[in-house]
Amino acid sequence: MKNIEHLISQMTLEEKASLSSGLNFWYLKGIKRLGIPSIMVTDGPHGLRKQAGDADHIGLSKSVPATCFPTASALAATWNRDLIYQVGVALGEECQEEKVAVILGPGANIKRSPLCGRNFEYFSEDPYLTGEMGKSHINGVQSQGIGTSLKHYTVNNQEFRRMVIDAIVDERALREIYLAGYEIAIKEAQPWTVMCAYNRVNGTYASDNKYLMRDILKDEWGHEGLVVTDWGAMNERVDAIIAGTELEMPGAPNGNDDKIVAAVQSGELDEAVLNSAVERILTLIFKAEETLSEDFVYDRQAHHALARRVAGEGVVLLKNEDSILPLQENSKVALIGRFAKEPRYQGAGSSLINPSQLDNLYDEIVNLVGGENITFAPGYTVTGDQPDESLIQEAVDVASTAEVVVICAGLTDLYEVEGLDRENLNLPPGHGALIYRIAQNHSKVVVVLSNGSPVEMPWVDDVTGIVEGYLGGQAGAGAMADILYGVTNPSGKLAETFPLKLEDNPSHHYFPQGPATVEYRESVFVGYRYYDSVGQDVLFPFGYGLSYTTFEYSDLKLGQHQLSDQETLRVSFKLKNTGFVAGKEIVQLYVRDTESTAFRPDKELKGFAKVDLAPGEESEVVIDLGPRAFAYYNVDLKDWHVESGTFEILVGASSQDIRLNASVEITSTQSAAPAVHADRDKLAAYYDFPKGQPISQADFEALLGKSVPKNQGTQKGEYTLNTPVGDMRESFIGRQLINMMNKQISKMIAGMEDTPTAMLMEVMIKELPLRGMLMMGDGPLNREMLDALLVMINGEFFKGFGALIKAVCNK
Ligand code: BGC
Repeated sequence: MKNIEHLISQMTLEEKASLSSGLNFWYLKGIKRLGIPSIMVTDGPHGLRKQAGDADHIGLSKSVPATCFPTASALAATWNRDLIYQVGVALGEECQEEKVAVILGPGANIKRSPLCGRNFEYFSEDPYLTGEMGKSHINGVQSQGIGTSLKHYTVNNQEFRRMVIDAIVDERALREIYLAGYEIAIKEAQPWTVMCAYNRVNGTYASDNKYLMRDILKDEWGHEGLVVTDWGAMNERVDAIIAGTELEMPGAPNGNDDKIVAAVQSGELDEAVLNSAVERILTLIFKAEETLSEDFVYDRQAHHALARRVAGEGVVLLKNEDSILPLQENSKVALIGRFAKEPRYQGAGSSLINPSQLDNLYDEIVNLVGGENITFAPGYTVTGDQPDESLIQEAVDVASTAEVVVICAGLTDLYEVEGLDRENLNLPPGHGALIYRIAQNHSKVVVVLSNGSPVEMPWVDDVTGIVEGYLGGQAGAGAMADILYGVTNPSGKLAETFPLKLEDNPSHHYFPQGPATVEYRESVFVGYRYYDSVGQDVLFPFGYGLSYTTFEYSDLKLGQHQLSDQETLRVSFKLKNTGFVAGKEIVQLYVRDTESTAFRPDKELKGFAKVDLAPGEESEVVIDLGPRAFAYYNVDLKDWHVESGTFEILVGASSQDIRLNASVEITSTQSAAPAVHADRDKLAAYYDFPKGQPISQADFEALLGKSVPKNQGTQKGEYTLNTPVGDMRESFIGRQLINMMNKQISKMIAGMEDTPTAMLMEVMIKELPLRGMLMMGDGPLNREMLDALLVMINGEFFKGFGALIKAVCNK
């Protein structure tokens, strides 16, 4: 490794500032005279999206072929740390071959609502599971000498107006839910980079948020890597570098490097801060250079086989009445649904992979059991937007000749797109109608779902089997064939709750929100923390999933029955495979604080293991619970706090299927811990959390300890560089700009209308803050021109026009 300190001492101020932003869309800058190379970073997360030609961050231009692994919701459903690590290793190998220094991902945002358009890219509604999966992914990639970018840090849980929205969240929810997953991954895997989110958090853009970047990430958690902006997420460059955001991406003519130089010269920015940013950037560059100087070729077949294995472990068997599955090899099976031949296997947007190979369920089943007993009908159109009567009738006819019907349904591409939240949890009408009609006409129906996030299932009682395949990646179809015919025993479990209906979700009343703010009024009551606390029935609970075998839990033992808040508790129990086939069980350990003075969810996941057992085999499972497993975040102490009292240790097969429990007494050593919230009465709504009812603004403000900002858009005259261009309709110049951009987009998406990429493009332009117009390096504008334009948009035409002419002349 180069002597970085020495290198920095040889750099001019301008050179140092220049390193703090990208060269272009995917490359960092290098400095030839000092032997600093320019390295490439690229998407992520579940495959490599390396664009060799035109660059964009929405999956518009093609990328080189790469293995498309299952997306994060499927990866998380495996609950298998080792397997996720192996996926990471494979991703690292593909980066080595393609000379990519950092693969952007994994995403650790919490699934606050099942509607978030990017949920397919995220792991879970639970921060512990999120952190464990994220950590394994990062450790795997980085074991190959390739960096990761843990994203989107943080409280980026809705796509609507993601580039400007201000997420208003209380400190406990922030710490216990929205930061906790990152904290695990940072402390236990040290991602080379962390990507800051687009949005604001409690009033400050993530890029400029000193509390998040410096105080928590660096000082508290000890992050050694650097913070890079999401593409176009930089707000105020000098504030951001002080806050701890080192690298701005992509590179753009926005004058930010000059701002850094000027700030150092004026004394506003301490050069030592810049030096330490440069030090982190150079450390990244040289670490990567060390790996990338060697040539490497990865084994494509091995990666495809791994993608199949992991997809298989991510499949969740949701219903299996009369043991309809596994299918008999010689059963007459009608395979219904276009997805059986044209699989839905990944989501749209910046994570779009160009798969090196793509399997489909029809061919995979034929490969496995031969084609004689398999018939097929598409059942719905490509978009599935409307029921197609003739396709449905054809499917009903084909189904009538079969013993078992397997319907492949789910969400089509247009339903899960980065940048756009879903509006409801329905299947496309064409899919819903197909399932309904087939189920009316056949008594043995298995529904196989391909989707990145939960759907409602009004037909749940009308079908015999349901298999959740998530977005299984390029080899997902083979994995599904193995599950359907019992070659693989299903062993995935849900990393998120499937509610009965959208309205049951705790964030429902406040999701999405805008134009200015989104209030996280449900606080820590996210996902099962809410459902289990208020007794809300769900369709399928968190942690749920069936197997072709059965497991018996017994002999729960605690290392101690009394301990202090500094000690680790050893929990052990026995698990036996009581069925006739080998299988893997995901055992879950939840902790319940039975007598807390703080409001707390009914139970919280604090440990899990995936255990592989042969028929009849029994094994002992051991899980250690450190002090954090019992703690909540005490806002007065500004620290984690374990209260003295009784805690229940709950061991189960899902959050609602607890098989064993025991109690432990913990004594706090934290003397004089402030009363949690002196005024418990003021927070009554949280202590007795209402089922199905919204939390009032007054109750939320009592929790926040301050009033919430107004949730309103900006008027002409007050527009800033952060106002989305699409909001500037009040202004004549604004309207011209919108028209111009729309024309530009129409050209770019010509021939791609009504595709997910086109949808994302349209919404991006509408929601893009004015400053985002500088994102493309070779665009016609520079920062000076944009400032002038803003003056014109705000109504001071002549003043702005003069400044614009001057800026054009200066260019
Ligand atoms: C996405 C990131 C992605 C980046 C680069 C952004 O729009 O939010 O997840 O890594 O683009 O493509």
